[in-house]
Amino acid sequence: MRTKISQITQKDIGKEFKIMGWIKSSRISKNFSFIEINDGSCFNNLQVILNSDIPEYEFITSKITTGASVSIIGDLVKSQGKEQAFELVAKKINILGECDPEKYPLQKKRHSFEFLREIAHLRARTNTFGAIARVRNTLAFATHEFFQQKGFLYINTPIITAADCEGAGEMFRVSTLDPENLPKTDKNNIDYKKDFFEKPAYLTVSGQLEGETYACALSDIYTFGPTFRAENSNTSRHLAEFWMIEPEMAFADIKDNMNCAEDYIKHCIKSVLEKCPQDIEFFNKFISPGVIDKLKNVLAQPFERLEYTKAIEILKNSTKKFEYSVEWGTDLQSEHERYLAEEHFKKPVILYNYPAHIKAFYMRQNDDGKTVAAMDILVAGIGEIIGGSQREERLDILEAKMDKMELDKQSYWWYLELRKYGSVPHAGFGLGFERLVQFVTGMENIRDVIPYPRYPGHCDF
Ligand code: ATP
Ligand code: MN
Repeated sequence: MRTKISQITQKDIGKEFKIMGWIKSSRISKNFSFIEINDGSCFNNLQVILNSDIPEYEFITSKITTGASVSIIGDLVKSQGKEQAFELVAKKINILGECDPEKYPLQKKRHSFEFLREIAHLRARTNTFGAIARVRNTLAFATHEFFQQKGFLYINTPIITAADCEGAGEMFRVSTLDPENLPKTDKNNIDYKKDFFEKPAYLTVSGQLEGETYACALSDIYTFGPTFRAENSNTSRHLAEFWMIEPEMAFADIKDNMNCAEDYIKHCIKSVLEKCPQDIEFFNKFISPGVIDKLKNVLAQPFERLEYTKAIEILKNSTKKFEYSVEWGTDLQSEHERYLAEEHFKKPVILYNYPAHIKAFYMRQNDDGKTVAAMDILVAGIGEIIGGSQREERLDILEAKMDKMELDKQSYWWYLELRKYGSVPHAGFGLGFERLVQFVTGMENIRDVIPYPRYPGHCDF
């Protein structure tokens, strides 16, 4: 039976193992060869020693090339070298899949992340992308663990939707109409009655509104699913397809929301530090020096909680030159968000009570009449990682707000009924999963923390 490399420890010295994996590098010589094998189960490679007494030594070593896949049976011995505690002395080796070293795009040198995006089908074999995949997996598991331990139900909200949830993001259209031959109405408009859903449909930008309906029945729920935004944003923080975690809690206010969000982020960081030490060590050394201290610093103290109004004062009094100036009422740019978290407070910041007019219609109006109970969490290197709010549970205020924002109340009839039948205070937030992976790994570009990034002009693989 095959053993994964992650399973093998120092205690196993003296035992026989069969391992399978890909050759990362090799040093071939006449009497013996060293081969580094990785199977993705952990960051570290297993060093294999191949002695020339093995049958067909010369033929086999001619096939030992970077990228080739192998199956090896051998005995685990204490290593002579300083690099590793143990190594495998091969007794039998099978080349499963050869790899032409002249053609293999992943040479044993450092490739740029831009280049690796062009070979995204192979990049998971590199140290960096293997480590990202494992950290991403651990963060997904930690997400479920956190909410399940707290008694939240995992629910699945629709991916195709007919409602422009917030009137917020630009949406991707879902249609089976033939774009070359669109059916028209008498008035020469597109006849959506002939489309699959008999009305315009889109990919969801958020599962929040549907999530609220389940929270208003089951108390605490969370979603974890794909979200789509057709914005033309070419930044290192935006994707057209990304994953979002959206908890929603009934009988909860903005404070409960902040506490939940802070605990959740801390739980995720703890989990990665505990479960992926080799991967994080790698990021700390080669990708983002100091990232481990940064994460430990996040765990060590409470997040700063600050009203939007106070943040504007801080930004206006700062000597830092910003590209965009701020006034009370302006939406913060990423440069402002980062300044607050990175430079001013040097820890994550929960900004709350934003001006009503820059936030979505469903956010709960505060008694001052100007602000809403919204909260964003800002972190170093990224800016906004979470956006959330207490929701407006009062029907009359919600309807008045929708009228003011010229939203079609008819199409939100079901959402409004939550406020008619047993309305409760409730709150929730959305965390962009890729931004969390970015934060934890210190990777600079969001396109490198999702296996196959979708962004303007790019939908390959
Ligand atoms: P931003 O201002 O950074 O564009 P937003 O305010 O439009 O974000 P929300 O609608 O509040 O984003 O979405 C909730 C969370 O989803 C954000 O806090 C962020 O972590 C993440 N997110 C939003 N848009 C994207 C995107 N295009 N790609 C990746 N993650 C995103
Ligand atoms: Mn937001």
